[in-house]
Amino acid sequence: MNYKNIYIVISLLLLFLLIFIGANETYKNQKISLVEFIKKVQNNEITRIILRDESQIIGESKDQIYITNKDPKESVYQIFKDYGLNTTTIFALDIEQKTTNFKEIIFAVLFNIVPLLIIAWIFWQIFKQAQRGTSQIFTFSKSGIKVYNPNSPDKVTFKDVAGLEEAKEELMEIVEFLKNPQKFFRIGAKIPKGVLLVGPPGSGKTLLARAVSSEANVPFFYISGSEFVEMFVGVGAGRVRDAFSIAKKNQPCILFIDELDAIGKVRSVGITGGHEEREQTLNQILVEMDGFEKGTKIVILGATNRPDVLDPALLRPGRFDRKIVLDLPDVKAREEILKIHLRDKKIGKTNIKEVAERTPGFSGADLANLCNEAAILAARRNKDSISQKELLDSIEKVLLGPERKTKVYSKKEKEIAAYHESGHAIVAHYLPHSHPVQKISIVSRGKAGGYTLKLPVEEKSFYSKKEFLDELASILGGYAAEKLVFNDITTGASNDLEVATEMAKQMVVRFGMSENIGPISLASSTQSFIGKSFYEKEYSEKMAELIDNETKNILNNALERAIKILEIKKDKLEKLAKVLIKKEVIEKKQFQKLINEPKGSLLNV
Ligand code: ADP
Ligand code: MG
Ligand code: ZN
Repeated sequence: MNYKNIYIVISLLLLFLLIFIGANETYKNQKISLVEFIKKVQNNEITRIILRDESQIIGESKDQIYITNKDPKESVYQIFKDYGLNTTTIFALDIEQKTTNFKEIIFAVLFNIVPLLIIAWIFWQIFKQAQRGTSQIFTFSKSGIKVYNPNSPDKVTFKDVAGLEEAKEELMEIVEFLKNPQKFFRIGAKIPKGVLLVGPPGSGKTLLARAVSSEANVPFFYISGSEFVEMFVGVGAGRVRDAFSIAKKNQPCILFIDELDAIGKVRSVGITGGHEEREQTLNQILVEMDGFEKGTKIVILGATNRPDVLDPALLRPGRFDRKIVLDLPDVKAREEILKIHLRDKKIGKTNIKEVAERTPGFSGADLANLCNEAAILAARRNKDSISQKELLDSIEKVLLGPERKTKVYSKKEKEIAAYHESGHAIVAHYLPHSHPVQKISIVSRGKAGGYTLKLPVEEKSFYSKKEFLDELASILGGYAAEKLVFNDITTGASNDLEVATEMAKQMVVRFGMSENIGPISLASSTQSFIGKSFYEKEYSEKMAELIDNETKNILNNALERAIKILEIKKDKLEKLAKVLIKKEVIEKKQFQKLINEPKGSLLNV
């Protein structure tokens, strides 16, 4: 029983008590006829008379109150005389003319109005509880689908989600659509049916999806892919059908499918149990999404941390064709997240910024966990608020804890990652033919310690050799920077090497871009440029050796160029890396301001 219920029980008791006393009091009031009243006066039972009302006489005896009606036009004295009471008896009576008695007002309020108020309050409480009952997780028995009411007391809004500004901005469009679908339908605007939230565990996918529903003030239906996995064939599909039909009945709304990868894995891979079940479930999702009528006001939000394993069918137009990437929080976002989670805790002297700086690679969930650990620690140390010490001590606890799922940096690793990414960015910036830098981040992501996002200026269908060569140099820029600065190489460059090698090999065997082999295609035509291709050996051993040599040459040259550029621009590399260590993320504009030299200004390297 929670404390609200205790209040209700207490007030019910109070109510009964009041009614009991009230009834007792009114029991003392006895209505009698005028004749009887007079008799009681004559017998000296009634010793006191109270006149308050024109039409009533109230008489008090030792333990009773008698009330009788009288003609309003006649005075009490007259009546008493008329009924034959003698004057001595009349004068012996204590007759009191009263308008209203304060005690009586209290009495009336206490026994008439207070019970009403209590009843009203109890009803209000019960009503509120019933309302909350539906807003807390309410499970539909059949489908296992859960629904959150957007107005529940534990609702989350965009304010409760720190960082993730770009994601929030993109989702604002969905919010507006759900708020006022007609506005969009009128113009014939198409709103994405499915939006995929992609991000590492604990990065706030579920949180953000719920925030969208509260912002739009629509219900939030939740199913999780992992719940389907071990079920019998057909059960998952049935659930999906159910979920969609419930959502359709509650439009506009959000249908959230968590852990989409659990169902949406690429089909026909390996011989895994529950394989057919998964396929049926996935098919059902596709069928439901395709079957939306025009004007359906449901937005399906999917969440995954493994977008790479998703079945491409899920990502086709009209399905999850919009992707929103949630990165791990950078240092500023971490500070905000910490503040959010310390909001409802007692904190003493703390430096939250320092905690944020010490927790690179922590996800939002890790940080929430950290705040809680700090509170527990403070309580165990018998303090009455959380101090900096508890926060810092909890970092380690969370790091070692079993619940953390994302990779975390040490200070040294962070430094290496910063130089590595700066290396990519500097090389890409100073070479004329490589894509311009959009964003650099060392907030860990997947296998790589960070990433440098470069985008082509325009979509192209042809690439030149010069472009390939510059691109290769910038891909090896990370490796080059590590070598130059630390005189050592880490495993962090392994993915770069893979990509670079593949690109160099393609140049040789497909595009005729090598020095010594020339214009010959040695790859079978089915292979795509991107993606893992295997080479059917259509050439001699000697040619194979030549291909290897050419590929190696191209790579070595690219590396040399990268190192040379970094040597020339060592000051910029240092500067960039230092800022990166501090900020963790650098956007295009800030990058250009930091470098302060035009793109492609090193032509002859
Ligand atoms: P995911 O679904 O991506 O695995 P969740 O949304 O379940 O992660 O996040 C877990 C918890 O971590 C949230 O309930 C929240 O307390 C905290 N959290 C994660 N990201 C943020 C954020 N950006 N701002 C505030 N809290 C966050
Ligand atoms: Mg989640
Ligand atoms: Zn790299």
